[in-house]
Amino acid sequence: MLGLMQDRPLLISQIIDYAAEFHPDVEVVSRSVEGPIHRYTYRQAQLRAKQLAEALADLGIRQGDRIATIAWNGYRHFELYFAVSGMGAVLHTLNPRLAPDHIVFIAEHAEDQVLFVDLNLLPIVEAVRPHLKTVRHVVVMTDRAHMPAASKIEGLLCYEELLAGQPGTFVWPEVDERSAASLCYTSGTTGNPKGVLYSHRSTLLHTLMMISGPVLGLTPDNTILPVVPMFHANAWGIIYASAMSGTKLVLPGPKLDGQSLYELMDAEAVDLSAGVPTVWLELLRYCDTAGKTLGKMKRTLIGGSAVPRAMIERFWHEHQVEVVHGWGMTELSPVGSLTWFRRGERDLPEEKRFDLTAWQGRPVFGVEMKIVDDAGRDLPKDGSVAGNLLVRGPWVAGGYMKGEGQSSFTAGGWFHTGDVAKLESDGSLVITDRSKDVIKSGGEWISSIDLENAAMGCPGVAEAAVIGLPHPKWDERPLLIVMRKPGAEVTPAQILEHLQDKVAKWWLPDEIAFVDAIPHGATGKILKTKLREQFHDHKLPGT
Ligand code: AMP
Repeated sequence: MLGLMQDRPLLISQIIDYAAEFHPDVEVVSRSVEGPIHRYTYRQAQLRAKQLAEALADLGIRQGDRIATIAWNGYRHFELYFAVSGMGAVLHTLNPRLAPDHIVFIAEHAEDQVLFVDLNLLPIVEAVRPHLKTVRHVVVMTDRAHMPAASKIEGLLCYEELLAGQPGTFVWPEVDERSAASLCYTSGTTGNPKGVLYSHRSTLLHTLMMISGPVLGLTPDNTILPVVPMFHANAWGIIYASAMSGTKLVLPGPKLDGQSLYELMDAEAVDLSAGVPTVWLELLRYCDTAGKTLGKMKRTLIGGSAVPRAMIERFWHEHQVEVVHGWGMTELSPVGSLTWFRRGERDLPEEKRFDLTAWQGRPVFGVEMKIVDDAGRDLPKDGSVAGNLLVRGPWVAGGYMKGEGQSSFTAGGWFHTGDVAKLESDGSLVITDRSKDVIKSGGEWISSIDLENAAMGCPGVAEAAVIGLPHPKWDERPLLIVMRKPGAEVTPAQILEHLQDKVAKWWLPDEIAFVDAIPHGATGKILKTKLREQFHDHKLPGT
Protein backbone atom coordinates (compact mmCIF):
# COMPACT_ATOMS: atom_id res chain seq x y z
CA MET A 1 0.00 0.00 0.00
CA LEU A 2 1.48 3.36 -1.00
CA GLY A 3 1.23 6.41 1.21
CA LEU A 4 -1.01 9.20 0.12
CA MET A 5 1.24 12.18 0.65
CA GLN A 6 2.10 14.70 -2.06
CA ASP A 7 5.10 13.89 -4.19
CA ARG A 8 6.42 17.47 -4.37
CA PRO A 9 9.93 17.64 -5.83
CA LEU A 10 12.86 18.81 -3.69
CA LEU A 11 14.52 21.64 -5.66
CA ILE A 12 17.46 23.96 -5.06
CA SER A 13 15.38 26.97 -6.22
CA GLN A 14 13.15 26.40 -3.18
CA ILE A 15 16.09 27.17 -0.90
CA ILE A 16 16.76 30.66 -2.25
CA ASP A 17 13.04 31.40 -2.48
CA TYR A 18 12.59 30.39 1.15
CA ALA A 19 15.55 32.52 2.26
CA ALA A 20 14.24 35.53 0.32
CA GLU A 21 10.73 35.19 1.73
CA PHE A 22 11.42 34.27 5.33
CA HIS A 23 14.92 35.65 5.98
CA PRO A 24 14.82 38.62 3.57
CA ASP A 25 17.11 40.89 5.58
CA VAL A 26 19.76 38.40 6.63
CA GLU A 27 23.09 39.36 5.12
CA VAL A 28 25.52 37.70 2.76
CA VAL A 29 28.85 39.48 3.31
CA SER A 30 31.72 38.96 0.87
CA ARG A 31 35.30 40.07 0.60
CA SER A 32 35.23 40.89 -3.08
CA VAL A 33 37.99 40.13 -5.54
CA GLU A 34 38.01 43.84 -6.44
CA GLY A 35 38.82 44.69 -2.80
CA PRO A 36 35.94 46.17 -0.81
CA ILE A 37 33.63 44.24 1.46
CA HIS A 38 30.30 43.70 -0.29
CA ARG A 39 27.11 43.16 1.66
CA TYR A 40 23.54 42.50 0.66
CA THR A 41 20.59 40.37 1.77
CA TYR A 42 19.08 37.06 0.78
CA ARG A 43 16.23 38.99 -0.85
CA GLN A 44 18.67 40.90 -3.07
CA ALA A 45 20.60 37.72 -3.79
CA GLN A 46 17.43 36.01 -5.01
CA LEU A 47 16.60 38.90 -7.33
CA ARG A 48 20.07 38.83 -8.85
CA ALA A 49 20.01 35.03 -9.17
CA LYS A 50 16.82 35.38 -11.19
CA GLN A 51 18.37 38.10 -13.36
CA LEU A 52 21.32 35.80 -13.96
CA ALA A 53 19.01 32.95 -14.96
CA GLU A 54 17.34 35.33 -17.44
CA ALA A 55 20.73 36.31 -18.84
CA LEU A 56 21.74 32.67 -19.22
CA ALA A 57 18.48 31.89 -20.99
CA ASP A 58 19.27 34.79 -23.37
CA LEU A 59 22.65 33.15 -24.06
CA GLY A 60 20.74 30.06 -25.15
CA ILE A 61 21.34 27.95 -22.04
CA ARG A 62 18.84 25.14 -21.66
CA GLN A 63 18.09 22.59 -18.97
CA GLY A 64 20.92 20.08 -18.52
CA ASP A 65 23.61 22.37 -19.99
CA ARG A 66 26.79 22.59 -17.94
CA ILE A 67 27.91 26.03 -16.71
CA ALA A 68 31.41 26.17 -15.28
CA THR A 69 32.81 28.47 -12.61
CA ILE A 70 36.40 29.19 -11.64
CA ALA A 71 35.85 31.39 -8.65
CA TRP A 72 36.46 32.06 -4.96
CA ASN A 73 33.81 32.18 -2.27
CA GLY A 74 31.91 35.36 -3.09
CA TYR A 75 28.41 36.72 -3.69
CA ARG A 76 28.44 36.33 -7.48
CA HIS A 77 29.45 32.70 -7.08
CA PHE A 78 26.58 32.40 -4.58
CA GLU A 79 24.18 33.74 -7.23
CA LEU A 80 25.51 31.21 -9.76
CA TYR A 81 24.83 28.38 -7.31
CA PHE A 82 21.14 29.22 -7.32
CA ALA A 83 20.64 30.64 -10.82
CA VAL A 84 22.25 27.76 -12.70
CA SER A 85 20.71 24.87 -10.74
CA GLY A 86 17.47 26.82 -10.31
CA MET A 87 16.94 27.09 -14.07
CA GLY A 88 17.59 23.37 -14.49
CA ALA A 89 21.14 23.69 -15.81
CA VAL A 90 24.15 22.10 -14.09
CA LEU A 91 26.67 24.11 -12.09
CA HIS A 92 30.18 22.79 -12.64
CA THR A 93 32.64 24.21 -10.12
CA LEU A 94 36.25 24.00 -11.29
CA ASN A 95 39.21 24.17 -8.94
CA PRO A 96 41.55 27.04 -9.96
CA ARG A 97 44.46 25.30 -8.23
CA LEU A 98 44.43 22.44 -10.72
CA ALA A 99 47.09 22.16 -13.39
CA PRO A 100 46.00 23.70 -16.74
CA ASP A 101 45.89 20.25 -18.36
CA HIS A 102 43.47 19.06 -15.71
CA ILE A 103 41.24 22.10 -16.17
CA VAL A 104 41.07 21.45 -19.90
CA PHE A 105 40.42 17.75 -19.39
CA ILE A 106 37.60 18.38 -16.93
CA ALA A 107 35.92 21.23 -18.84
CA GLU A 108 36.01 19.20 -22.06
CA HIS A 109 34.76 16.08 -20.32
CA ALA A 110 31.88 18.02 -18.78
CA GLU A 111 31.18 19.75 -22.12
CA ASP A 112 30.88 23.11 -20.37
CA GLN A 113 29.01 25.75 -22.40
CA VAL A 114 29.70 28.94 -20.48
CA LEU A 115 32.57 29.61 -18.11
CA PHE A 116 32.32 32.22 -15.34
CA VAL A 117 35.63 33.36 -13.91
CA ASP A 118 36.73 35.67 -11.12
CA LEU A 119 38.74 38.68 -12.24
CA ASN A 120 42.05 37.59 -10.69
CA LEU A 121 41.70 34.05 -12.05
CA LEU A 122 41.22 35.18 -15.65
CA PRO A 123 44.87 34.41 -16.59
CA ILE A 124 44.15 30.71 -15.92
CA VAL A 125 41.36 30.76 -18.49
CA GLU A 126 43.36 32.86 -20.96
CA ALA A 127 46.08 30.20 -20.92
CA VAL A 128 43.71 27.34 -21.77
CA ARG A 129 40.98 29.08 -23.80
CA PRO A 130 42.07 27.68 -27.21
CA HIS A 131 41.63 24.13 -25.87
CA LEU A 132 38.13 24.66 -24.49
CA LYS A 133 36.18 23.49 -27.52
CA THR A 134 32.70 23.34 -26.03
CA VAL A 135 32.84 26.67 -24.19
CA ARG A 136 30.84 29.31 -26.08
CA HIS A 137 31.20 32.26 -23.69
CA VAL A 138 33.60 33.37 -20.99
CA VAL A 139 32.09 35.73 -18.41
CA VAL A 140 34.26 37.76 -16.04
CA MET A 141 32.60 38.06 -12.66
CA THR A 142 32.97 41.82 -12.25
CA ASP A 143 31.55 45.15 -13.40
CA ARG A 144 32.47 47.17 -16.49
CA ALA A 145 34.84 49.45 -14.59
CA HIS A 146 37.01 46.48 -13.57
CA MET A 147 36.93 44.60 -16.87
CA PRO A 148 40.43 44.11 -18.28
CA ALA A 149 41.29 46.66 -20.98
CA ALA A 150 42.71 43.91 -23.15
CA SER A 151 42.47 40.15 -23.00
CA LYS A 152 43.69 37.23 -25.09
CA ILE A 153 40.08 36.04 -25.09
CA GLU A 154 37.85 37.52 -27.72
CA GLY A 155 34.32 38.54 -26.80
CA LEU A 156 34.74 38.44 -23.05
CA LEU A 157 31.44 39.08 -21.33
CA CYS A 158 30.94 41.19 -18.22
CA TYR A 159 28.84 39.70 -15.39
CA GLU A 160 27.20 42.95 -14.26
CA GLU A 161 26.33 43.88 -17.84
CA LEU A 162 24.62 40.54 -18.30
CA LEU A 163 22.43 41.21 -15.28
CA ALA A 164 21.72 44.88 -15.98
CA GLY A 165 18.24 45.47 -17.33
CA GLN A 166 17.01 41.92 -16.69
CA PRO A 167 13.62 42.02 -14.97
CA GLY A 168 14.42 39.46 -12.24
CA THR A 169 11.00 37.84 -12.58
CA PHE A 170 12.29 34.45 -13.74
CA VAL A 171 10.00 31.59 -12.80
CA TRP A 172 12.04 28.59 -11.73
CA PRO A 173 10.98 25.50 -13.66
CA GLU A 174 9.66 22.50 -11.76
CA VAL A 175 12.26 20.00 -12.91
CA ASP A 176 12.43 16.37 -11.86
CA GLU A 177 14.10 16.31 -8.43
CA ARG A 178 16.41 13.56 -9.65
CA SER A 179 17.81 15.72 -12.44
CA ALA A 180 21.41 16.90 -12.25
CA ALA A 181 21.96 20.17 -10.38
CA SER A 182 25.71 20.43 -9.95
CA LEU A 183 28.91 18.70 -10.92
CA CYS A 184 32.23 18.35 -9.16
CA TYR A 185 35.22 16.27 -10.22
CA THR A 186 37.17 14.09 -7.80
CA SER A 187 40.72 15.17 -7.16
CA GLY A 188 41.98 12.40 -9.44
CA THR A 189 44.98 11.33 -7.39
CA THR A 190 44.62 7.96 -9.11
CA GLY A 191 43.70 7.99 -12.79
CA ASN A 192 41.72 10.75 -14.43
CA PRO A 193 39.34 12.89 -12.38
CA LYS A 194 35.79 11.55 -12.38
CA GLY A 195 32.59 13.57 -12.44
CA VAL A 196 30.21 13.40 -9.47
CA LEU A 197 26.82 14.59 -10.61
CA TYR A 198 24.65 15.76 -7.72
CA SER A 199 20.88 15.86 -8.11
CA HIS A 200 18.43 18.37 -6.66
CA ARG A 201 17.10 15.64 -4.42
CA SER A 202 20.51 14.56 -3.10
CA THR A 203 21.45 18.20 -2.46
CA LEU A 204 18.25 19.01 -0.58
CA LEU A 205 18.49 15.90 1.58
CA HIS A 206 22.15 16.64 2.33
CA THR A 207 21.24 20.23 3.21
CA LEU A 208 18.47 19.17 5.60
CA MET A 209 20.98 16.86 7.27
CA MET A 210 23.60 19.63 7.52
CA ILE A 211 21.35 22.18 9.23
CA SER A 212 19.86 19.64 11.65
CA GLY A 213 20.50 19.80 15.40
CA PRO A 214 22.97 16.94 15.77
CA VAL A 215 25.00 18.21 12.81
CA LEU A 216 25.50 21.99 12.52
CA GLY A 217 22.27 22.99 14.26
CA LEU A 218 22.12 26.14 12.13
CA THR A 219 19.75 28.98 13.07
CA PRO A 220 19.25 32.60 11.97
CA ASP A 221 21.30 33.62 15.03
CA ASN A 222 24.45 31.97 13.67
CA THR A 223 27.02 33.58 11.40
CA ILE A 224 28.98 31.12 9.31
CA LEU A 225 32.16 31.59 7.29
CA PRO A 226 33.03 28.71 4.98
CA VAL A 227 36.76 28.83 4.28
CA VAL A 228 36.30 25.58 2.39
CA PRO A 229 36.06 26.71 -1.21
CA MET A 230 32.85 26.68 -3.19
CA PHE A 231 34.79 24.63 -5.77
CA HIS A 232 35.54 21.88 -3.24
CA ALA A 233 32.45 19.66 -2.95
CA ASN A 234 30.08 22.64 -2.90
CA ALA A 235 31.79 24.18 0.14
CA TRP A 236 30.63 21.10 2.04
CA GLY A 237 27.03 22.14 1.42
CA ILE A 238 27.29 25.26 3.57
CA ILE A 239 26.05 27.63 0.86
CA TYR A 240 22.72 25.81 0.67
CA ALA A 241 22.60 25.19 4.42
CA SER A 242 23.03 28.83 5.38
CA ALA A 243 20.32 30.00 2.97
CA MET A 244 17.92 27.28 4.10
CA SER A 245 18.36 28.18 7.75
CA GLY A 246 18.55 31.96 7.36
CA THR A 247 22.08 32.01 8.78
CA LYS A 248 24.24 35.04 8.03
CA LEU A 249 26.86 33.99 5.48
CA VAL A 250 30.35 35.48 5.31
CA LEU A 251 32.44 34.70 2.22
CA PRO A 252 36.21 35.30 2.39
CA GLY A 253 36.93 35.76 -1.33
CA PRO A 254 40.50 35.16 -2.41
CA LYS A 255 42.15 36.13 0.89
CA LEU A 256 42.65 32.96 2.88
CA ASP A 257 45.71 33.92 4.92
CA GLY A 258 45.48 33.91 8.72
CA GLN A 259 45.31 37.67 9.19
CA SER A 260 42.62 38.28 6.55
CA LEU A 261 40.48 35.46 7.89
CA TYR A 262 40.90 36.63 11.47
CA GLU A 263 39.93 40.20 10.61
CA LEU A 264 36.82 39.15 8.70
CA MET A 265 35.74 36.72 11.40
CA ASP A 266 36.20 39.35 14.05
CA ALA A 267 34.46 42.16 12.16
CA GLU A 268 31.44 40.06 11.20
CA ALA A 269 31.16 38.21 14.56
CA VAL A 270 31.50 34.80 12.92
CA ASP A 271 30.60 32.03 15.38
CA LEU A 272 31.03 29.00 13.12
CA SER A 273 33.49 28.23 10.37
CA ALA A 274 34.61 25.31 8.23
CA GLY A 275 37.79 24.35 6.42
CA VAL A 276 40.67 21.93 5.98
CA PRO A 277 43.38 21.54 8.66
CA THR A 278 46.08 23.44 6.75
CA VAL A 279 43.98 26.63 6.75
CA TRP A 280 43.58 26.42 10.51
CA LEU A 281 47.27 25.77 11.06
CA GLU A 282 47.88 29.09 9.37
CA LEU A 283 45.13 30.90 11.34
CA LEU A 284 46.35 29.49 14.67
CA ARG A 285 49.89 30.57 13.79
CA TYR A 286 48.70 34.09 13.02
CA CYS A 287 46.72 34.34 16.28
CA ASP A 288 49.73 33.06 18.19
CA THR A 289 52.19 35.57 16.76
CA ALA A 290 49.76 38.52 16.75
CA GLY A 291 48.50 37.75 20.27
CA LYS A 292 44.86 37.46 19.16
CA THR A 293 42.08 35.13 20.27
CA LEU A 294 39.07 34.05 18.28
CA GLY A 295 36.73 35.69 20.74
CA LYS A 296 33.44 35.19 18.94
CA MET A 297 33.96 31.82 17.30
CA LYS A 298 32.30 28.94 19.08
CA ARG A 299 32.80 25.98 16.75
CA THR A 300 34.66 25.06 13.63
CA LEU A 301 34.05 22.14 11.30
CA ILE A 302 37.35 20.67 10.13
CA GLY A 303 37.74 17.86 7.62
CA GLY A 304 39.13 16.90 4.25
CA SER A 305 42.16 15.44 6.05
CA ALA A 306 42.54 14.06 9.54
CA VAL A 307 42.50 16.72 12.25
CA PRO A 308 45.54 16.35 14.50
CA ARG A 309 44.60 16.02 18.16
CA ALA A 310 47.04 18.82 18.96
CA MET A 311 44.91 21.17 16.84
CA ILE A 312 41.74 20.19 18.69
CA GLU A 313 43.46 20.94 22.00
CA ARG A 314 44.85 24.26 20.81
CA PHE A 315 41.52 25.47 19.53
CA TRP A 316 39.93 24.71 22.88
CA HIS A 317 42.69 25.84 25.23
CA GLU A 318 43.76 28.95 23.34
CA HIS A 319 40.41 30.07 21.87
CA GLN A 320 37.58 28.14 23.57
CA VAL A 321 36.57 26.96 20.11
CA GLU A 322 35.09 23.48 19.82
CA VAL A 323 36.34 21.45 16.87
CA VAL A 324 33.79 19.38 14.99
CA HIS A 325 35.76 16.80 13.01
CA GLY A 326 34.10 15.74 9.78
CA TRP A 327 34.84 13.02 7.29
CA GLY A 328 33.50 13.03 3.78
CA MET A 329 34.25 12.85 0.09
CA THR A 330 33.22 14.62 -3.09
CA GLU A 331 31.22 11.45 -3.78
CA LEU A 332 29.26 11.97 -0.55
CA SER A 333 28.07 15.54 -1.25
CA PRO A 334 30.39 15.50 0.90
CA VAL A 335 29.50 14.85 4.54
CA GLY A 336 29.40 11.26 5.83
CA SER A 337 30.26 11.56 9.50
CA LEU A 338 31.21 14.16 12.07
CA THR A 339 31.75 14.61 15.77
CA TRP A 340 28.53 14.45 17.72
CA PHE A 341 28.26 13.50 21.33
CA ARG A 342 25.94 10.88 22.70
CA ARG A 343 23.78 11.72 25.68
CA GLY A 344 26.07 12.28 28.64
CA GLU A 345 29.33 12.44 26.65
CA ARG A 346 29.59 16.22 26.95
CA ASP A 347 30.18 15.69 30.65
CA LEU A 348 33.21 13.49 29.98
CA PRO A 349 36.62 14.83 31.01
CA GLU A 350 38.01 17.04 28.24
CA GLU A 351 40.79 14.56 27.45
CA LYS A 352 38.16 11.96 26.58
CA ARG A 353 36.23 14.46 24.46
CA PHE A 354 39.41 15.32 22.58
CA ASP A 355 39.97 11.59 21.97
CA LEU A 356 36.50 11.27 20.49
CA THR A 357 36.99 14.39 18.36
CA ALA A 358 40.28 13.11 17.00
CA TRP A 359 38.32 10.24 15.46
CA GLN A 360 36.28 11.01 12.36
CA GLY A 361 32.97 11.28 14.20
CA ARG A 362 29.92 9.10 13.82
CA PRO A 363 27.83 8.63 10.70
CA VAL A 364 25.13 11.24 10.19
CA PHE A 365 21.59 9.95 9.77
CA GLY A 366 21.27 8.80 6.16
CA VAL A 367 24.77 7.42 5.63
CA GLU A 368 25.35 3.70 6.28
CA MET A 369 28.87 2.37 6.67
CA LYS A 370 30.58 -0.98 6.78
CA ILE A 371 34.12 -2.33 6.47
CA VAL A 372 35.12 -5.35 4.42
CA ASP A 373 38.28 -7.34 3.80
CA ASP A 374 39.93 -7.58 0.38
CA ALA A 375 37.62 -10.49 -0.53
CA GLY A 376 34.57 -8.33 0.23
CA ARG A 377 33.63 -10.14 3.46
CA ASP A 378 32.11 -8.02 6.24
CA LEU A 379 34.44 -7.23 9.14
CA PRO A 380 33.33 -6.62 12.74
CA LYS A 381 32.36 -3.14 13.91
CA ASP A 382 34.14 -3.42 17.24
CA GLY A 383 37.33 -1.49 16.59
CA SER A 384 39.39 -4.69 16.42
CA VAL A 385 40.32 -4.52 12.73
CA ALA A 386 40.69 -2.01 9.93
CA GLY A 387 39.15 -2.72 6.53
CA ASN A 388 37.99 -1.16 3.29
CA LEU A 389 35.27 1.39 4.01
CA LEU A 390 32.02 1.11 2.04
CA VAL A 391 29.12 3.58 2.32
CA ARG A 392 25.64 4.05 0.94
CA GLY A 393 22.92 6.64 1.26
CA PRO A 394 20.70 9.07 -0.65
CA TRP A 395 23.50 11.62 -1.16
CA VAL A 396 26.20 9.09 -2.01
CA ALA A 397 27.21 8.80 -5.69
CA GLY A 398 25.62 5.85 -7.46
CA GLY A 399 27.97 6.15 -10.44
CA TYR A 400 30.39 8.58 -12.07
CA MET A 401 29.58 10.74 -15.05
CA LYS A 402 29.62 8.92 -18.38
CA GLY A 403 29.67 5.54 -16.62
CA GLU A 404 33.31 5.66 -15.60
CA GLY A 405 34.88 4.02 -12.52
CA GLN A 406 32.29 1.23 -12.33
CA SER A 407 34.50 -0.84 -10.03
CA SER A 408 33.87 1.61 -7.20
CA PHE A 409 30.22 0.62 -7.05
CA THR A 410 29.14 -2.80 -5.76
CA ALA A 411 26.04 -4.70 -6.73
CA GLY A 412 24.52 -4.18 -3.28
CA GLY A 413 24.49 -0.42 -3.80
CA TRP A 414 27.62 0.23 -1.75
CA PHE A 415 30.28 2.73 -2.79
CA HIS A 416 33.94 1.81 -2.25
CA THR A 417 35.45 4.89 -0.62
CA GLY A 418 39.08 3.85 -1.12
CA ASP A 419 39.63 4.67 2.56
CA VAL A 420 40.79 2.17 5.15
CA ALA A 421 38.98 2.51 8.46
CA LYS A 422 37.90 0.97 11.73
CA LEU A 423 34.35 1.16 13.00
CA GLU A 424 34.40 1.32 16.79
CA SER A 425 31.79 -0.31 19.02
CA ASP A 426 30.60 3.16 20.12
CA GLY A 427 29.71 3.94 16.50
CA SER A 428 32.78 6.08 15.71
CA LEU A 429 34.55 6.01 12.40
CA VAL A 430 38.34 5.95 12.55
CA ILE A 431 40.06 6.54 9.23
CA THR A 432 43.50 4.97 9.28
CA ASP A 433 44.56 5.66 5.70
CA ARG A 434 43.77 6.04 2.03
CA SER A 435 44.11 2.45 0.80
CA LYS A 436 46.98 3.45 -1.48
CA ASP A 437 48.80 5.12 1.43
CA VAL A 438 48.75 2.29 4.00
CA ILE A 439 52.15 1.03 5.04
CA LYS A 440 52.37 -2.74 5.03
CA SER A 441 55.00 -3.86 7.51
CA GLY A 442 55.50 -7.57 8.17
CA GLY A 443 52.02 -8.31 6.88
CA GLU A 444 50.40 -5.79 9.25
CA TRP A 445 49.21 -2.27 8.52
CA ILE A 446 50.67 0.85 10.01
CA SER A 447 48.33 3.86 9.97
CA SER A 448 50.13 6.83 8.50
CA ILE A 449 47.37 9.12 9.83
CA ASP A 450 47.92 7.98 13.43
CA LEU A 451 51.67 8.47 13.14
CA GLU A 452 51.26 11.90 11.55
CA ASN A 453 48.83 13.00 14.25
CA ALA A 454 51.10 11.84 17.02
CA ALA A 455 54.07 13.64 15.45
CA MET A 456 52.04 16.85 15.03
CA GLY A 457 51.65 16.95 18.80
CA CYS A 458 55.41 17.23 19.32
CA PRO A 459 56.54 20.77 20.15
CA GLY A 460 58.48 22.28 17.26
CA VAL A 461 56.72 20.21 14.59
CA ALA A 462 54.65 22.33 12.20
CA GLU A 463 53.50 19.57 9.89
CA ALA A 464 54.21 15.87 9.44
CA ALA A 465 53.66 13.27 6.72
CA VAL A 466 54.43 9.58 6.70
CA ILE A 467 55.16 7.39 3.68
CA GLY A 468 56.20 3.77 3.38
CA LEU A 469 59.58 2.92 1.86
CA PRO A 470 60.70 -0.54 0.71
CA HIS A 471 62.36 -2.76 3.28
CA PRO A 472 63.91 -6.17 2.52
CA LYS A 473 62.68 -7.82 5.70
CA TRP A 474 59.40 -6.05 6.50
CA ASP A 475 58.24 -5.22 2.97
CA GLU A 476 57.70 -1.56 3.91
CA ARG A 477 58.71 0.66 6.82
CA PRO A 478 57.61 4.21 7.68
CA LEU A 479 59.61 7.34 6.93
CA LEU A 480 58.41 10.36 8.90
CA ILE A 481 58.81 13.63 7.04
CA VAL A 482 58.68 16.75 9.19
CA MET A 483 58.46 20.46 8.58
CA ARG A 484 59.66 22.30 11.68
CA LYS A 485 57.96 25.41 13.08
CA PRO A 486 59.89 28.57 12.17
CA GLY A 487 62.91 28.85 14.48
CA ALA A 488 62.32 25.45 16.10
CA GLU A 489 65.24 23.05 16.35
CA VAL A 490 63.46 19.86 17.27
CA THR A 491 65.65 16.75 16.68
CA PRO A 492 64.78 13.21 15.50
CA ALA A 493 65.56 11.91 18.99
CA GLN A 494 63.07 14.36 20.56
CA ILE A 495 60.36 13.37 18.09
CA LEU A 496 60.95 9.66 18.70
CA GLU A 497 60.85 10.27 22.43
CA HIS A 498 57.51 12.08 21.98
CA LEU A 499 56.10 9.21 19.89
CA GLN A 500 57.24 6.50 22.34
CA ASP A 501 54.02 6.20 24.34
CA LYS A 502 51.62 7.28 21.57
CA VAL A 503 51.97 4.49 19.02
CA ALA A 504 52.91 0.80 19.03
CA LYS A 505 56.67 0.30 19.24
CA TRP A 506 56.88 -1.41 15.86
CA TRP A 507 55.17 1.60 14.25
CA LEU A 508 57.98 3.98 15.22
CA PRO A 509 59.46 5.43 12.01
CA ASP A 510 62.76 3.99 10.86
CA GLU A 511 63.93 7.47 10.01
CA ILE A 512 62.86 11.11 10.34
CA ALA A 513 63.63 13.47 7.47
CA PHE A 514 63.27 17.24 7.64
CA VAL A 515 61.95 19.34 4.74
CA ASP A 516 61.34 23.05 4.23
CA ALA A 517 57.80 22.52 3.01
CA ILE A 518 55.28 19.71 2.74
CA PRO A 519 53.52 19.72 -0.64
CA HIS A 520 49.74 20.10 -0.74
CA GLY A 521 47.28 19.29 -3.52
CA ALA A 522 44.50 21.44 -4.94
CA THR A 523 42.14 20.72 -2.04
CA GLY A 524 44.68 21.12 0.75
CA LYS A 525 45.57 17.46 1.22
CA ILE A 526 49.18 16.39 1.66
CA LEU A 527 50.46 15.22 -1.72
CA LYS A 528 51.92 11.85 -0.84
CA THR A 529 52.56 11.13 -4.50
CA LYS A 530 54.97 14.09 -4.59
CA LEU A 531 56.68 12.98 -1.39
CA ARG A 532 57.05 9.45 -2.75
CA GLU A 533 58.70 10.88 -5.86
CA GLN A 534 60.93 13.10 -3.76
CA PHE A 535 62.08 10.18 -1.57
CA HIS A 536 62.01 7.60 -4.35
CA ASP A 537 65.73 6.81 -4.19
CA HIS A 538 66.00 7.29 -0.47
CA LYS A 539 67.25 4.28 1.49
CA LEU A 540 66.10 3.70 5.03
CA PRO A 541 68.88 2.90 7.53
CA GLY A 542 69.90 -0.75 7.32
CA THR A 543 68.44 -1.31 3.83
P1 AMP B 1 37.68 14.81 -1.44
O1 AMP B 1 36.77 14.04 -2.30
O2 AMP B 1 38.67 15.63 -2.19
O3 AMP B 1 36.94 15.61 -0.42
O4 AMP B 1 38.57 13.76 -0.65
C1 AMP B 1 38.01 12.74 0.12
C2 AMP B 1 39.06 12.01 0.90
O5 AMP B 1 39.66 12.88 1.86
C3 AMP B 1 38.51 10.88 1.73
O6 AMP B 1 38.33 9.72 0.97
C4 AMP B 1 39.59 10.72 2.79
O7 AMP B 1 40.68 9.95 2.31
C5 AMP B 1 40.06 12.13 3.00
N1 AMP B 1 39.42 12.70 4.19
C6 AMP B 1 38.36 13.53 4.24
N2 AMP B 1 38.07 13.87 5.50
C7 AMP B 1 38.97 13.21 6.28
C8 AMP B 1 39.20 13.12 7.70
N3 AMP B 1 38.47 13.81 8.55
N4 AMP B 1 40.20 12.33 8.12
C9 AMP B 1 40.97 11.63 7.26
N5 AMP B 1 40.81 11.69 5.92
C10 AMP B 1 39.82 12.46 5.44
